[in-house]
Amino acid sequence: MQTSFSLAQLADPHVEEAEKILRKCVHCGFCTATCPTYVTLGNELDSPRGRIYLIKDMLENGRAADAEIVTHIDRCLSCLACMTTCPSGVNYMHLVDHARAHIEKTYRRPLMNRLTRGVLAAVLPYPGRFRAALTLARIGRPFANLFGAVPALKPFAAMLRLAPASVPAASPASAPSTHAAAGVRRGRVAILTGCAQPVLEPGINEATIRLLTRLGVEVVVPKGEGCCGALVHHMGREDDALAAARKNVDAWTREVEAGGLDAIVITASGCGTTIKDYGFMLRLDPAYADKAARVSALAKDVTEYLATLDLPAPATAPGIEVAYHSACSMQHGQKITRLPKDLLTKAGFVVREPREGHLCCGSAGTYNIMQPEISARLRDRKVKNIAATGAAVVATGNIGCMTQIAGRAGMPIVHTVALLDWAYGGPKPEMIAGIGIGVAAE
Ligand code: SF4
Ligand code: SF4
Repeated sequence: MQTSFSLAQLADPHVEEAEKILRKCVHCGFCTATCPTYVTLGNELDSPRGRIYLIKDMLENGRAADAEIVTHIDRCLSCLACMTTCPSGVNYMHLVDHARAHIEKTYRRPLMNRLTRGVLAAVLPYPGRFRAALTLARIGRPFANLFGAVPALKPFAAMLRLAPASVPAASPASAPSTHAAAGVRRGRVAILTGCAQPVLEPGINEATIRLLTRLGVEVVVPKGEGCCGALVHHMGREDDALAAARKNVDAWTREVEAGGLDAIVITASGCGTTIKDYGFMLRLDPAYADKAARVSALAKDVTEYLATLDLPAPATAPGIEVAYHSACSMQHGQKITRLPKDLLTKAGFVVREPREGHLCCGSAGTYNIMQPEISARLRDRKVKNIAATGAAVVATGNIGCMTQIAGRAGMPIVHTVALLDWAYGGPKPEMIAGIGIGVAAE
């Protein structure tokens, strides 16, 4: 694609990067076929190619964002299916991230929209605040339909509907500590305990720590780590996202320097995609560029790290049919496709793959709150495809997808690592207590 940025514009390294990306696009439109919003809405402006043109026009003309571009960029899930499909290697992720930051700086959103986004940014990344908000949401839940009837309050209705009926007790697994390896130590990793995940499903970090330590890996929960910053990053709040990234880079660098780390293990693929991008996000900060690049190189989804270990024979023969739902951040963001399925198969599960596996479930960070209608359409499509597999359980590697699909698929949804922990000698996940035999392996 031809571009016409001035030299003065290109002196801004963010614009220079955007220009490089734009020039790679050859307008072929292959990406439209796999874009969930184009497939759902059928509007070129809700396709990757349409958004790329809108962003090009806004940046080239040095214009502030307007309501039209904000509408179409807000509808983008950042699922990155377009990047998987694109034959020209267009880095849509970095382009849309820059567009969102530009929107945040140049566009004044309507009051309720500002308020909702402000509440989400102030609550979700902080486990204590998020836990309190979920407790309040339980009280507000009966009013969800009332809120839903007022267009500006629909995000609040979506929040109330997504809130779980009960909030599990906080787990000590999320507190800073070192979990010793059983037997001879084969490795040492840090685990990102996360922000929303340990509140909604503390069993995921517990299962990860149990499984890794049983396999001879020391697991550290470093002091000072926090939210990865993805939630605010996707809202265009660059300063907040970079502050979160720097805090984590500092925490993990201290661990690298103190005892060495083989990996930073991540159990939410949405966070993994962002942490693997810290090197890019902080490339212009001389104090952090090298450290951030080192952190990104150490970041591994838990399935990637497990695949590097010599796994023993499973302790249990689960024999359960599992529909594997590959989160967009896992398959498109991190290009991890086969590994989780191979690990489940090796552990004795029968893996089924839902149709249209490349399409987003509509969760996408805060998307299911900010764009509830499109999100619900994508969720229903996903749930139908999952149900058609006839499996007994859904497995996935991202808490956002778990929350989105839970209670809709007609079958329990569990994290992949919880199933693997069970197969390799851990407790059977409570959610699937009544399913399958799970006899001791021969
Ligand atoms: S597939 Fe790639 S090159 Fe083709 S229109 Fe989409 S982004 Fe541009
Ligand atoms: S990130 Fe997803 S929703 Fe956004 S343009 Fe690409 S395919 Fe479409």
